[in-house]
Amino acid sequence: MASGCDLILAARWLATQDDARGVIENAAVAVKDGLVAAVGPRSEVEASWSAPKTLDLGRSCILPGLINTHGHAAMTVFRGLEDDLPLMDWLTKHIFPVERQLTREVVYLGSLLAAAEMIRTGTTCFTDMYLFEEETARAVDACGLRAVLGDGIFAVPQCAYTRPDEVWPILADFAAAWKGHPRIRPGYMAHSVYLTPPDMLVRAYETACREEALFCLHLAETRAETDNCLRDYGRRPAAHLEALGLLSPRSLLVHCVDLDAADLPLIAASGAHVSHCPKSNLKLASGVAPVPAMRAAGINVALGTDGAASNNSLDLFSEMGFAALLHKGVTLDPLAVPAQTALDMATRNAAGALAWPELGALAPGRAADLIALDLAEPGLQPVYNPVSQAVYAASGSQVLLTMVAGKILYRDGRFETIDLPSLLREIEGVAAWVRARLV
Ligand SMILES: [Zn+2]
Repeated sequence: MASGCDLILAARWLATQDDARGVIENAAVAVKDGLVAAVGPRSEVEASWSAPKTLDLGRSCILPGLINTHGHAAMTVFRGLEDDLPLMDWLTKHIFPVERQLTREVVYLGSLLAAAEMIRTGTTCFTDMYLFEEETARAVDACGLRAVLGDGIFAVPQCAYTRPDEVWPILADFAAAWKGHPRIRPGYMAHSVYLTPPDMLVRAYETACREEALFCLHLAETRAETDNCLRDYGRRPAAHLEALGLLSPRSLLVHCVDLDAADLPLIAASGAHVSHCPKSNLKLASGVAPVPAMRAAGINVALGTDGAASNNSLDLFSEMGFAALLHKGVTLDPLAVPAQTALDMATRNAAGALAWPELGALAPGRAADLIALDLAEPGLQPVYNPVSQAVYAASGSQVLLTMVAGKILYRDGRFETIDLPSLLREIEGVAAWVRARLV
């Protein structure tokens, strides 16, 4: 006799992203209590499970929801503002002056716009480091996404706190408010070795350890960062973290563009993870992270978009395509980052980096965080290999359905948790507010 479940989703293809990277044709997944109850050939799933409803997704491919391991969600409000500048000019002359005046409401609306974009383009979980993170958490709570969130920890006065010391009570309040939430985890997000002094880095890491939470920072984003770190501390950024005792499997290092041959074994031996953000690194002309060398050294590499101001998109399908193509061009090796590796970086590697083992693959007992990519689109036919299609041919706008914890957040052009027309009206007001604050 068949067991009961909440919903069965059926599709022509399903990429499990399990250890065997199984791709099932004529597949189905049974969802119960927010988890995957079963996954397999449709005939087998339907023989063992009964649901009040079966959703037939036709010629689509069901995938685990994509996971964005680095971003600043509310920076959607700066998308397309003053592009094409050097990183430090862009930050200090354009972004920081407006950020210093940010309000809670702008952060909430920017976060909700980011959430809408991520839901629309197949991202089900993300990490975020910004200001007034409480507002980002409110947006995530309301829209149904999953996230690891934390206020940026740095010694620069800005809108959320003016003295560095003031960040610790903000972080404690945030953890008290959100710890134990089924979809939101507090994280400890130091900005970087250049904006976060050693004592703050150490305190952030120690707090993360005590709270069993993620520790994250931008690291080795540019050659200039390395030069300044050598000047100030006599060590390269990765060695600086090592010397402070901050490299471990709890550490997520964002960018890692400027690594040398000695940095790689240091990071690999520590078990720290890397968030690779190829489009942001290209747009800000920071360089290209040595991802094939990192992988050869045994480092777990995941994918991130960075904020919408430096990308300018939060579409992880685009990011997977860039990751897969960029390293072939740089290394002249067509096997440098295969399509399967790019998909791994956006799913199971990311789940490992966030220490969230219920995510990143579709198997019984895992979270029912999944998406359906519509392969009936002309540009995605014919289908020999759905993973190749997802990485090299698809865009996030071809996602048909997005589900988190068993709940459908988007389907066929319809947002279930976000009132998009009213959000877009509010965002027009935010854009006028930003324009009025430009120097
Ligand atoms: Zn960033």
